[in-house]
Amino acid sequence: MDTVDEIKQRLDIVEVLSSYVPDLKKSGRNFKAVCPFHSEKTPSFFVFPERQSWHCFGACGTGGDMFAFVMRKEGVDFKEALNILAERAGVLVVQRKLDEGKSEADRLKEINEAAAEYFHDLLFHSAGGQRTREYLIRRGVSEKTMRQFLIGYSQDSWDSLRQELLKRGYHENELSAAGLQVEKEKEGSYDRFRNRLMFPIRDMAGRVVGFGARALDDSLPKYLNSPQTLIFDKGSSLYGIDFAKLAIRKENLAVVVEGYMDVVVAHQHGFTNVVASLGTALTERHVGIVKKLTNRLVLALDADAAGEMATLRGIEVASHTFDQKVVPMPTSAGLVKYEEQLDAEISVMVLPEGKDPDDVIKESPHEWERLLKEAAPVIDYTFDLVVSRLDTTKAKDKSQAADQLLPLIAEIKHPVRQAHYLQRLSRAVAVDEQTLAASLGQFKQNKPGPRRETKSPPPSRMVTHLSSGDSLAEYCLYLLFTYPDLRSHTSDLRADQFLNTEDRELLLAWQKTTDLDSLRRELDFSLQEHLNVLMSRATPPLHGEVQERALRQCINRLRERWLKELKAKEQILISELEGADKATDLQEIQKSAVKLNAELGEVFLYGKERKKRASGEGDN
Ligand SMILES: [Zn+2]
Repeated sequence: MDTVDEIKQRLDIVEVLSSYVPDLKKSGRNFKAVCPFHSEKTPSFFVFPERQSWHCFGACGTGGDMFAFVMRKEGVDFKEALNILAERAGVLVVQRKLDEGKSEADRLKEINEAAAEYFHDLLFHSAGGQRTREYLIRRGVSEKTMRQFLIGYSQDSWDSLRQELLKRGYHENELSAAGLQVEKEKEGSYDRFRNRLMFPIRDMAGRVVGFGARALDDSLPKYLNSPQTLIFDKGSSLYGIDFAKLAIRKENLAVVVEGYMDVVVAHQHGFTNVVASLGTALTERHVGIVKKLTNRLVLALDADAAGEMATLRGIEVASHTFDQKVVPMPTSAGLVKYEEQLDAEISVMVLPEGKDPDDVIKESPHEWERLLKEAAPVIDYTFDLVVSRLDTTKAKDKSQAADQLLPLIAEIKHPVRQAHYLQRLSRAVAVDEQTLAASLGQFKQNKPGPRRETKSPPPSRMVTHLSSGDSLAEYCLYLLFTYPDLRSHTSDLRADQFLNTEDRELLLAWQKTTDLDSLRRELDFSLQEHLNVLMSRATPPLHGEVQERALRQCINRLRERWLKELKAKEQILISELEGADKATDLQEIQKSAVKLNAELGEVFLYGKERKKRASGEGDN
């Protein structure tokens, strides 16, 4: 999650805006006031809490999210608005002031590498390091492995790394940008990692991008990762990928475990196709990384976790415990979705209850091989588990089983494969296929899901992982940034049709530059962060005219969505005015609604024609 998302999750738009617009009043499910941007007598400025947006239906006709509001009201740019809202939300904004010359990403990797060497050196040449090495040896890690993985030790000190790196010529700002230190609220900063066992996390090319750090005393959290930086994102890093890539390609199989120690021990025993997600759920981006090497993935889970994964609903829920820390993990339905989207095969390898992969491997490498061989495709595994727990004499059991399995089946795109599983479910619960197929429609209609997940687990168990992203806008930007030739096809693209200010800002900045590199240089840190997240999405490459078609579809859908949104908002307004005695206002709004309808009609026509043309082309 980037800084902007974090701010949006912590703040509520109504709260933020009402500090600028004190007369904001509740009106149905929404809030209204006299517009702060133009002079008027009757309120036409509305805030929509469910959409976390605002809109003026009066003379100025503007709208957007909370960032857009603050920018306009305070007359500041995005960076300033970010600072204002970050302070309000208590979120730290990392400032960017770096040496020119090398690319910023390069420089940050270099600093992380310097830190890794320093920590590694301490492991062998300090008292704390001595104790840490003893701990590693007790856990079965050889000295050779410690050297291979550059495992290290961070001293119990607030500034030893800082002093070391400053001595080597790095700047204070760079240390923060690299995620190695924490800025204090007022002034100054301190080392992020203290008295911890350090695992440097490397990218596919072997460059150090961040750290996983295990506490050596009772400090919490037990595991601490580098924060999100320009070069590091938990959701798109896999520990051990640099050493595992060859074996994964050769064996055409990747095994994904959870812990750093699991990877280290597995490699030491010759199982070199093992990587770890960094205490987060397996994300689509993880699968995307592995997909560059193989399309076969095995997820190693202990019996408890595997069972939970299979029986929970929703794409992603917080459920599994990873060294006392609650992390979200994908459910079976989520995994099937990744399989379908990315054309991958994901299987589940079930470990004995309460055992980690490194325990299994140390006790018996043969057992590991056996369990791996037994790994079953996620959908079969889930079916078997759910059905084995089913008592077909109980109606409640049957509906529960259907509730658990139908979402998985709904994710399958291939009709024959889908029919196969529908049949299997029909037999298991003794309900005819038609009835089940009818309920299947429900799950399909639910896609694409709401912007905020509705079936969230209770907040207390939850690690915030909800995205407020606008995937349509982000895909559009991704296309533009990836295929520079598309620039000539953007005359119909309008920034105000993007839901989020950060996307609007990226588009505006891109319009002023010539290529991705110069765009990166132009951007403020927070937007760079957003750009990186956006560009790291795994998307299959598009060729030639397909690029152009994809962009055109995107632009059209953006326009359609924008008009619909506007119409929906207007509808809210109309139903309000109908209640009150505001005949003239109502007339005005209905007039503009008619105009909107006409424009919306145009968009639909355009879409239809395009489809017709496309199918006509296909016939030739
Ligand atoms: Zn206005």
